[in-house]
Order: sequence, then structure tokens, then C-alpha cells
Amino acid sequence: MKLEKKDVLFVIGVSAVYCSLAAGFSLVSTILPDKMVLTNPIEYGSLSLKEITGHFAWGVVAAIVTLRVRYILLGGFLAVLIDSDHLIGLLHVEGIPRMGHSITFAIVAVVVLMLVFHKNDYRLGAIVGTSILTHVSYDIFSTEYGFPIFTPFVNKIIQFPREDWVLFEIVAIAIIGIVSFVVTRKESIEKSVPTQ
Ligand SMILES: [Zn+2]
Repeated sequence: MKLEKKDVLFVIGVSAVYCSLAAGFSLVSTILPDKMVLTNPIEYGSLSLKEITGHFAWGVVAAIVTLRVRYILLGGFLAVLIDSDHLIGLLHVEGIPRMGHSITFAIVAVVVLMLVFHKNDYRLGAIVGTSILTHVSYDIFSTEYGFPIFTPFVNKIIQFPREDWVLFEIVAIAIIGIVSFVVTRKESIEKSVPTQ
């Protein structure tokens, strides 16, 4: 496993687009029904060093099965950057908190990032899609239990019992593992067929 310059650029590029997407997606909530007053993330102290480290670790652990540094790093970074959906709290508007912590955001992020970067990079798709799972896993594990999982269709904050954190992490590892296995197999079959 080694890290080349193109991997670094890839990780930075994906992280930047993903971060803007999470922040942008939360703006949608200002036009949804059931909106509420959002807490200011700075006063509230929503991202401590402990939380950043925790989210990063949870993301990295799930992405290790790819055996590729660029995806392992992305697993960590994206699981942290999804919290840019808290930035909307700085605007003093009404909305729904933690819009990025939802299935819709996961789908939107996978589609947008695969279109922007590589349409056939299924490992990237798996890492982006599961970043929501590893993130929520650590949130449940540490302090928070409720998320608008089905927003913008059902804008209720769904609560999870604390022990569910394991489930979220295991599902993330399983998805990344299966996708990586299939892609690696396909690549090795293509390599073994001589091209003329
Ligand atoms: Zn969170």
C-alpha cells in the first residue's frame, strides 16, 4: 500500500466536493415543512477533537477492507466532513438539523461524486455511500441518537438505541467489503485475459 501524488489529489478533490455537497444539501431543509430553529454549531460546540478523531477512526476501520490507501483515507475524511451539514446553523435560519445524516443524502452524494470523479469507480461509490453509516454509528456510540434518516420525505427525527452503533458499522464494512471484492475480482480477470 502506497500513497502517490495522484491519490492525494483524488482524496482532496473528493473531500472538497463532498463537503460542499453536505453543506449545500442542508440548505434544502429551509424550504421543508417541520423546520425548526437550528442551533449555532460554534456556540453548541458540535465538533470537538474527540468527535473528529472518533468519526475518522470509524470511517477508516470500515474502509480498511479496500486495502487501498486513497479509499481508507477517504473513509476517514468523509465520515468527518459530513458534519458540514451543521454549518447551516451559522446562517440564523430555520431548517432541519443534520440533513446529511439521511438516506437521500447518501444517494445524492454517491451519484454526484461518481459523476464528477469516476463513473466506474464503485469503490468510491461504496465509500461515499457508507460514510453516512460510519458517521451515524459513531454519533450513536458517543452522544447523539436521533437523525432525520428519511428526510425530505419524512422529516421526523428517528431515534436509535445506543447499541445499534455496531449494526451501522458492520453494514458499512459489509458493503465496502463486498464491493471491493467484486471489483478486485473483475480487475484481476480483465488483467489475466491477454489483450491483442
Ligand atoms: Zn453527526
